[in-house]
This record gives sequence, C-alpha cells and structure tokens, in this order.
Amino acid sequence: MIGLISATAAGAAARDRLAAAWPGRAVVYEGPVRAAVHRAFAECEQLVCFLATGAVVRLLAPLLSDKSADPGVVCVDEAGRHAVALLGGHAGGANALAEAVAEVLDATPVVTTATDAAGLLGLDMLGLPVEGDVAGVSRAMLDGAPVELRADALWPLPALPPNVAPGSTLPDPADAAVLHITDRVVESGARRAVVRPASLAVGVGASRGAPVDEVVGLVHDALREAGLSPLSIAELVTVDAKADEPGIVAAAARLGVPLRTYAAEALARVEVPNPSGAPLAAVGTPSVAEAAALVEGGELLVPKRKSTPPPGSEGRAAMATCAVVRRAPRGRLAVVGLGPGARDLLTPRAREELRRASVLVGLDQYVDQIRDLLRPGTTVLESGLGAEEERARTAVAEAREGRAVALIGSGDAGVYAMASPALAEAGADIDVVGVPGVTAALAAAAVLGAPLGHDHVSISLSDLHTPWEVIERRVRAAAEADIVVTFYNPRSRGRAWQLPEALSILAEHRDPATPVGVVRNASRPDESARVTSLAALDPAAVDMMTVVTVGNTATRQIAGRMVTPRGYRWQSAAGTGEGGR
Ligand code: SAH
Repeated sequence: MIGLISATAAGAAARDRLAAAWPGRAVVYEGPVRAAVHRAFAECEQLVCFLATGAVVRLLAPLLSDKSADPGVVCVDEAGRHAVALLGGHAGGANALAEAVAEVLDATPVVTTATDAAGLLGLDMLGLPVEGDVAGVSRAMLDGAPVELRADALWPLPALPPNVAPGSTLPDPADAAVLHITDRVVESGARRAVVRPASLAVGVGASRGAPVDEVVGLVHDALREAGLSPLSIAELVTVDAKADEPGIVAAAARLGVPLRTYAAEALARVEVPNPSGAPLAAVGTPSVAEAAALVEGGELLVPKRKSTPPPGSEGRAAMATCAVVRRAPRGRLAVVGLGPGARDLLTPRAREELRRASVLVGLDQYVDQIRDLLRPGTTVLESGLGAEEERARTAVAEAREGRAVALIGSGDAGVYAMASPALAEAGADIDVVGVPGVTAALAAAAVLGAPLGHDHVSISLSDLHTPWEVIERRVRAAAEADIVVTFYNPRSRGRAWQLPEALSILAEHRDPATPVGVVRNASRPDESARVTSLAALDPAAVDMMTVVTVGNTATRQIAGRMVTPRGYRWQSAAGTGEGGR
C-alpha cells in the first residue's frame, strides 16, 4: 500500500490525481499532517508526501529504524514539479516510486542514491540476497576503486562496472575490496560483501507429523557442516505425497523459499547414491531427499542425512532426511524489440532488459540507437548487416555459458528479425524472455492515419530467403481476400521489380484510386510520409527504410489521412455507433 499525505489545497489536488491513477494501491491519509504521516509510516510500504522535504524529514526522523525495514518515501513539491526520492531509494523502492509518481503528475523525478545516479549497479538491486559490508563495497564500486570479484560460477547478472574484476586482472588485488558471488560461507570483514545466488536445491523427506523444528534444524545443520549459506537455497524439494506435510510446508515458509514437489515415478528414475526400502514402501520411490534434489541435475554436495530428534525426544527414530545439490547457473536470453526508432517508442520493459544484461548482441546501427542506456561495463557484440545467423548463434552461446544476454532488433524483434533464428538455436537449458516492440507497420499506420482498421497482413518482399513464387502467391491471396497489405523490405538497389509486380497483382482486384501509404523512417528524425494511390505510386520513391501500406476496397483518404473503415458500410458504421469503438 502507498500512503498519500498532503497539507494544502494544491497538494490535495495532486494527491487526488495520484489516488485516481492507482486505485486499490494508494490510500489517502487525511487529518493533521503529523498524525497522518505517523500512521502511514506504520501502515504502508511506501509514502508519497505532498509536503516540503524539510517538514517530512522532521516528522520522520524519530520513526526511522533501518533501511531494510523502513518504507520508501517520496516528496512532491507544492507546484508538483519534482518527485524526490527522500528515503529508502533502493530497499524501500523510493527511486522507482519517484519515477512512477513523476510519470502520473508529469513531474521530474529526483533520485540521489549514489549508485543509481551514476547509472551503476546497486548491489542490493541484483534481486539476490546480499550480506556483509554492502555499503563499503558499493562505495568502492562507485568510487572506481578496485573491487576483486570472486565468483564460483558465471551467474546471469547485469554488467558490473570495469573496476570490479577477478583478482588476476586487478593491478593491486591486496588493496581491493572483495565482492563474492557464492553459495559458500566466506570470511567476513570490512569492504567484503557476498551476493547469494539461488543455487542450492534442498531435498527433504519426512515421516508424518515430523516437527518443523526438526526439519529446519536438519537443513541448517547440513548446510553449516558443508560450509553453505541458507541464503542460497533456491527451493525445498520433495515428493508429491509430502506436498501437504505440515513440518515441510512450515520449514519452507520459515526458510523463506518455495516448496516444489515431484511425482514419485519421476524421483524413482533418478540415480542416487543412497536408496532405501522405507520410502519405496511408503511413497513409491527408493529416494526422496536425494532424488528430489538431483532431479533437475547438479552436483550432490550433501548426501542424504537424517535429523536429530529434538531435546526431550532423544532415542526416538529420526523423522526427517535431507540432501543438498548445487545446480548449474542458467543463462538468460532477452530478445528485445527497440521499436521503430524514436526513444519514447522504446518500451520501459525494453529499457529495463537492456540494463539487466551484461552482454548485448545486435546490428551496429541498432546498438548505436541505445548505447547510452547500457550499464557501464556491458560487453557489446555488434556486427554489420547480414551475419544474422551468426548473431543469433553468438547470443545463444553467450547465454549458454551463463550470462545475461540481450539480443536486440528494431521494431519487434520477432517480426522478420532475430527472435526466430535465436530460438531455433536455443535449447531448454537457458531462460528466454521476449520483450515486444512497436513494429514498423504499426509505427507507419499511426503516421498515416488509420489504415489498419480492418483485417490486414504484412508481407516481406525480400526474396533472399523465400522464393518469389511463394511471395507472389501470398500477395495474390491478400488481393483476392481484400485484405490491407503492408509491405516490409519493399525495394532495394538489387531488388527493384518486386514492388511494381506486387502492386500490379493488388491492382487486379482494387481500384486504381485505392489509397497507398508510403512511410520512410517512421518515428526517426528524417521521417517522411505520403498518401498516394495504387495508380500514382512511384516505386522509385521507395527504399529499404520504407514500408508501403495498400488499403482495401473500402479504404478512403479523408483530410489527407488514410482511413480503413471497421466494416464495408461507411454510413451504418458512422450512424449507429456500432463498430466505432
Ligand atoms: N523487426 C522490424 C522489421 C525488420 S525488416 C520491425 O518489426 O519493424 C526491415 C524492414 O522493416 C525495412 O526494410 C522496412 O521495410 C521496415 N522498417 C523497419 N523500421 C522502419 C521504420 N522506422 N520506418 C519504415 N519502415 C521500417
């Protein structure tokens, strides 16, 4: 919940706009300001105060405990010009909240947390638990001081700044701060921090009624003796039959990790070092803890061990078993559409994925488009036109090694672009995330008017990968079906006859006056657009930077705009309001 507090009429007006924009998420705290701030601070995860920063600082000072628990606080000035992240920039989410508030109120977000302001990575922004001297190591990262990276494996993390590197590559590693990325317990101290990857699968078995303390105690003992951190537990795993076993369910909750269960038949197929007869008789698999931990693969670090009955029940049989497996990191491939060109048509999600990656793969001209958005330290693998298959292979290979990779394309990366060759190459061993982008046909349509108001199709006129007969058959089908057509890759220096040929096929079924929209460099600085007709279109004005959209038999030019009606009866569509939505 986000608590909203204001003191003046102007503040209240802005407050109400925010409340209206976020129904169910934002609560207005009325009444005297001091009491309202205090109540909201106690009850909400975040606060937006339409008050002077000084006033808020004074009101909150006595209430502060620590940054992991305190709410994030944003202040908005009387004039509604600035949304200032005052408190809890990272952990409290105030930086993100300031951005969101600014978006709604059309204000400027003000974010002062060091790591964000420099475009660098806050250690607490990795989405993974961090321990140790986080402030000391963050400071060193930000100062550009050497930070020795000691990682057990390659994790799909965002780019780290260049001063964070393995000891062998640092000039003077003895002086360096240390950033561990490991599931192992390591020596702590000043300027040493540990990021905990979610690498450990803990298999558990339990007889009916096993106490939660016994299960949790067993897990902690097993990890401690193996020198492993509980913060790296990815999940507890067991057999389906134990999905509701209270001691196991409560143990997962207490450890703050999900519980996942598998069918006994699946576990029975897993090769384990310590099978036994008891679970086979009880649940149908000779191993629960070891098999569940190993079922997704990995390295068995702690073979099956049994619990110690708690004080008072010494002498009775152990009621729980556990085993610990380290899973290999899974790389991450984000396939990101950048939109047609304009920065404000790049989606926030695409922007986020660009900052989430440590490796960027793409065509050089697209990389140039977004280079300023990358985190310092991002590896950029750019290549020239062509080389598509190779780009796709590179991106997948980098992800397979465990990295976080963003593969970019203009428009939507899945439309005549990189997503298909990349996913044809990718196996189940990497995670894939797709981010949609505004494709050229849509960007052009918005410039032209409303040409896609009825059924429409995109056809690429490039016969590089597709025989012309196939393309021609599709154009003919669209012509016969009276479907609006957008031609991608319409014409290049070496491919001049295809567009006139395609237009003549459409002209067999459409009037010579049928509107045709030609948009070059949609949304880019040198954008140009024209609405002409099938008869008047000059193919020489079309190049590879252009899309050509041909209307159907009902498409009209109205006030210079290209409009395809929602149906085939102009009058009734306009008159009844039907289909006008
Ligand atoms: N993935 C891209 C399309 C790649 S095919 C997308 O979704 O938009 C390349 C063709 O797209 C170009 O030849 C041109 O026809 C079209 N195109 C891409 N961006 C364009 C833009 N900004 N304006 C006009 N046409 C564009």
